[in-house]
Amino acid sequence: MADLREALERIRAFVRDRGWEPFHDPKNLAMAVASEAGELVAELRWVPSERADEVARDAEVHARLTDEAADVAITLLMLCDRAGIDLETAIPAKLAKNALRYPVLLPEEPSDLSLLPWSARRALDVAGRRLSLAAWQALPLETRRRLAGLGSVAEPDAEAVRELVRGEPIAPFVPPEAPPAALAMTPARWRALSRVARHALHAYAARGKLDRMEALRAALDASSEPPKTRSS
Ligand SMILES: [Mg+2]
Repeated sequence: MADLREALERIRAFVRDRGWEPFHDPKNLAMAVASEAGELVAELRWVPSERADEVARDAEVHARLTDEAADVAITLLMLCDRAGIDLETAIPAKLAKNALRYPVLLPEEPSDLSLLPWSARRALDVAGRRLSLAAWQALPLETRRRLAGLGSVAEPDAEAVRELVRGEPIAPFVPPEAPPAALAMTPARWRALSRVARHALHAYAARGKLDRMEALRAALDASSEPPKTRSS
């Protein structure tokens, strides 16, 4: 993030040299962020979504988008500087919060969490806890979402899981980083999978459910194919 600090120093000097500090209170700067974001959006207004990638690559549009994206970043950095917001810590902290709020779902897992998703199973496995489907469905939705969120982050907090799920402890299951031996997959494809998907594939392999493992692999491959509308 050294580049971010250097950019901020340049912005501070630019503002100082022009004596603009008196106008740069947090309210004005927040409005500046919004108006620059509006200028960015205006470049793509009414462009059909299926053509947006192509339009954004057009040399003239790309140059204008670049300018407006820089304006958004500059005004945002000025706002954070004035309001004492440290983006270097705020960005990873917010990503961690978002991971808890938006659990990873594998193909065909219902987003209403009516069935026990693999993200929650990963949290339970790491913490050494077991839940039947009936016990899962008896949990409040907020608890189910929290468990799924805990299993979606890089390092699930086993203690937090155990606070949510009492009951009989079982041996924790923490699979290795490498793919299961029974799974034929390139290292690049394996690394591109979510931690939740890798956990599920390992869990199937460990239990000898190789047909389930292959079915999940096929579903993951199908879901990673680009949408038909972008195959131009
Ligand atoms: Mg602008």
